[in-house]
Amino acid sequence: MITRPKTLSEEQIKRYSRHIILSQVGGKGQRKLLEAKVLVIGAGGLGCPAALYLAAAGVGKIGIVDFDLVDLSNLQRQVLHHTHDVGRPKVQSASETIHDMNPDVEVVQYREPFTSKNAMDIICGYDMVLDGTDNFPTRYLVNDACVLSNKPNVYGSIYRFEGMASVFLPGKGCYRCLYPVPPPPGSVPSCQEAGVFGVLPGIIGVIQATEAIKLIIGAGDSLCNQLLVYDALEMEFRKVKLAKNKACPVCGEHPTITSLVDYEQLCGFPGASH
Ligand SMILES: [Zn+2]
Repeated sequence: MITRPKTLSEEQIKRYSRHIILSQVGGKGQRKLLEAKVLVIGAGGLGCPAALYLAAAGVGKIGIVDFDLVDLSNLQRQVLHHTHDVGRPKVQSASETIHDMNPDVEVVQYREPFTSKNAMDIICGYDMVLDGTDNFPTRYLVNDACVLSNKPNVYGSIYRFEGMASVFLPGKGCYRCLYPVPPPPGSVPSCQEAGVFGVLPGIIGVIQATEAIKLIIGAGDSLCNQLLVYDALEMEFRKVKLAKNKACPVCGEHPTITSLVDYEQLCGFPGASH
């Protein structure tokens, strides 16, 4: 546990000087960042760039959930892992890279699948969740756990050359407002089956980090009630308005989902990040 003094050290003033001179951040915002706790689900394509920039920005505590090992085919986009990490747990490799970059950051490693059993216990120690999952069972679990624990969910997803991002704030709608139930098992191919343009998760993951940092320092407008859609081939960003769905099964007026549901039996493996 790293103890955090109320004032910034000389080294921190220098490290974060380009933040501190921004009126929207300042010393106050930087201290908020150092006190912030963000849970990143998945140390894969989205989680890696997101966690890297959160760490560089000085987010004081970053939890990373991933049970997987680094595979050579991950290195095309999962920028926290290096060639010598192949075969090692992703949480370990991620934690080392972050620590080398910014020793101010405490990284908590959860080398386990994210399931209905551990989700609430893990989430309760954090201010917000950054969803870097690549599969529907975990995405729905992250969403429901955030709704049930009143935590912001900074959402991102990628498919081949297209990515999406949004922010679901407590009481203002959720992923299920948009897609109430997961697609049938096997109807959507995984990254492994479909392929993914390597820089795409970099863009979306850094957008998620941007939104998380803005929430922490309270600057600007968030992607709350908006879905950002990015097409890398056309180099086009579009925003689609989202509204809270009164009939949403988890955050609507008469919720039918009041505890966590595991969908893994139906559609693949939980907690993996590609
Ligand atoms: Zn909802």
